Amino acid sequence: MAPNATDVNGVLFEDDAATPDMALPNLPVQKADNYPKKFVWRNIIAFAYLHLAAIYGGYLFLFSAKWQTDIFAYILYVMSGLGITAGAHRLWAHKSYKAKWPLRLILVFFNTLAFQDSAIDWSRDHRMHHKYSETDADPHNATRGFFFSHIGWLLVRKHPELKKKGKGLDLSDLYADPILCFQKKYYLILMPLCCFIMPTVIPVYFWGETWINAFLVAALFRYAFILNVTWLVNSAAHKWGHKPYDKNIKPSENLSVAIFALGEGFHNYHHTFPWDYKTAELGNNRLNFTTNFINFFAKIGWAYDMKTVSDEIVQKRVNRTGDGSHHLWGWGDKDQPKEEVDAAIRINPKDD
Ligand SMILES: [Zn+2]
Ligand SMILES: [Zn+2]
Repeated sequence: MAPNATDVNGVLFEDDAATPDMALPNLPVQKADNYPKKFVWRNIIAFAYLHLAAIYGGYLFLFSAKWQTDIFAYILYVMSGLGITAGAHRLWAHKSYKAKWPLRLILVFFNTLAFQDSAIDWSRDHRMHHKYSETDADPHNATRGFFFSHIGWLLVRKHPELKKKGKGLDLSDLYADPILCFQKKYYLILMPLCCFIMPTVIPVYFWGETWINAFLVAALFRYAFILNVTWLVNSAAHKWGHKPYDKNIKPSENLSVAIFALGEGFHNYHHTFPWDYKTAELGNNRLNFTTNFINFFAKIGWAYDMKTVSDEIVQKRVNRTGDGSHHLWGWGDKDQPKEEVDAAIRINPKDD
């Protein structure tokens, strides 16, 4: 187990689990102290400008931009979304599958489009979020309120607990990947090119869009949109929804977030079993675009070694720590329809 194991508040990798159904030995404790907020004015001004410009960009998206620009902005939204979900999140932060270098290169490009810091830094924050979930060492600790977990955490200095415990976090696997190191080293050149310059130049050059429409729609509106979608996983999906897998934690199953976040809103499952590459327990993946994306690359051999959790372990965990909202864990589930029970074929039946 990792250092500081006694105050670890959530499992991160399979090895951290201490019970057969993949939980920690103790119940997680959520808490936040009254650490005074020290504002980072540079970020406050930048995000205020971004959101005002993005609102105008949204207006231009609807009423002024060419249809090609709108489609282009939508494609960039999906690409930058996947750079976070399939890349920084499932591949790098959680190691829930492996990817060959061509796919890693695609994902690093997508990730740079999203401008949420380098994949190494993103993964560091996210590993802290799972390991010290909802304590002062969680970068976007949801016990400090909706606003803090959404955007507020980026507007203030980091909590000293986060800095202290962050030092014990193992990131050697990320630094061993030359593609990730390249992105981190040249981030201040690559990021503006991918996130702002390329999305502005392409619409102007290829279909004669105006500079202002291209910049405000394909760069700023699209960027602010995917940012807020990502943040909703930290805010809304830590607040609203059912907890079929573990009722002792705040992360919840939030369908609306899942739809916009390309499959990342099934957050109670995800915090219970973070190494599952699907981030959800699903019979079909209609609402999990990221899983379909990874499955597609698995078919051509670029994604492999995907980890998932067996039905048996999921059911055990649902029985023990779920809030009773799990759709159906098996025979005897309180939600199992009576007609189904009556119609079931039972061989040598015996009710105890
Ligand atoms: Zn979370
Ligand atoms: Zn995660």
